[in-house]
Amino acid sequence: MSDETRLIHAGAQSGPICRTVGPPIQKGSTVLLPNAAALYDDDHCTTYGRSGLAAQATLREALAVMEGAVGVSLYPSGLAAISGALLAVLKAGDEILVVDNVYKPVRRFCDRVLGGFGVGVSYFDPRTAPEALVGEASDKTRLILLESPGSLTLEMQDVPAIARLARERGILTAIDNTWGAGFLFRPLEHGVDLSLQALTKYVGGHSDVFMGSAAARDPALVRALNDGVDDLGWAVSGEDAYQVLRGVRTLPLRLAAQGEAGLRVAEWLKTQPEVAAVHHPALPGDPDHALWARDYRGACGLFTVALKPAPRAAVDAFLDALQVFGLGFSWGGFESLAIWCDPQLKARRFRRDYAGPLIRLHIGLEAVDDLIADLRRGLDAYAKTAA
Ligand SMILES: *Cc1c(COP(=O)(O)O)cnc(C)c1O
Repeated sequence: MSDETRLIHAGAQSGPICRTVGPPIQKGSTVLLPNAAALYDDDHCTTYGRSGLAAQATLREALAVMEGAVGVSLYPSGLAAISGALLAVLKAGDEILVVDNVYKPVRRFCDRVLGGFGVGVSYFDPRTAPEALVGEASDKTRLILLESPGSLTLEMQDVPAIARLARERGILTAIDNTWGAGFLFRPLEHGVDLSLQALTKYVGGHSDVFMGSAAARDPALVRALNDGVDDLGWAVSGEDAYQVLRGVRTLPLRLAAQGEAGLRVAEWLKTQPEVAAVHHPALPGDPDHALWARDYRGACGLFTVALKPAPRAAVDAFLDALQVFGLGFSWGGFESLAIWCDPQLKARRFRRDYAGPLIRLHIGLEAVDDLIADLRRGLDAYAKTAA
């Protein structure tokens, strides 16, 4: 054979590879098939790399165990998991009910894309009673999209009750379970049809990878999700899948540590003179505490604080005085973060009144005393600027 041909085939992996703790990161668009019969054999496992190779398969398996699912589909981001799952089960003429405290880019998708394709979208107050919510659904309502605790303001829904009532009427339920991370809360066990989450947050856990997942138990829904991924042509890389899989292994430990640290910081904040209220469903006294205590096995490190009224300059002074907390929109990593929420709430239909500005905190793995000292520094700046 010529040098050119030998260069193409030299060293190509042929035999079995040795076994490591994690799966191999296979890089492949082309999948080589063993013989001509396998080319069009529908039962042959994988014929093309887009549907994922060893690392993606291992991750899907691990997530299925965590979620108690029959099948899990992977998406290139959390937002893609939600848009992909909705596109997989909805058609023109359907209507959906979406909780008003939904992640803001999901609202944009619903209004622009689903609305543009002829799906009717209406929003409901997160505190709507399950009977009233499902009672108000029309004959065209195909799906109810929940997020509990919801973005920024963290109101919860009675997810099992909504799932049960919706099922009786033949309406699907889906939940963005990013706060529960598929571990603190297992939606499929509570009767929800589609459990969606941004793996980008806690499961990835290191603020360095985008991915999302959709999990289901009903084989028809598992097939619909897989078909949806195929139809839209989405793929996630083996490197990214491997990285998220690493996160899965330590997720329970990180959640336990960050959940406990979050509660300690939240309890401390409640006693500070600049703080009007702490919104954290795992705090006794929170309006949603009973729902959380009934359905969740723990808390993550994400919650929101309402400060006492002060001008915008005081909010900026608070955030700019922080030295340990970073200012950033994400969460779920090992580092503490803070943002000011109010500008994002303008898109909502059902707005609540808060005493003053809302600050969302994500508690990372730093020492709690350092985080408290940092927040005290911020509150001093807040008080000084407000005065
Ligand atoms: C971040 C987030 C998403 C989107 O995840 P991406 O991977 O950033 O697309 C979805 N839902 C919630 C609640 C989130 O916080």
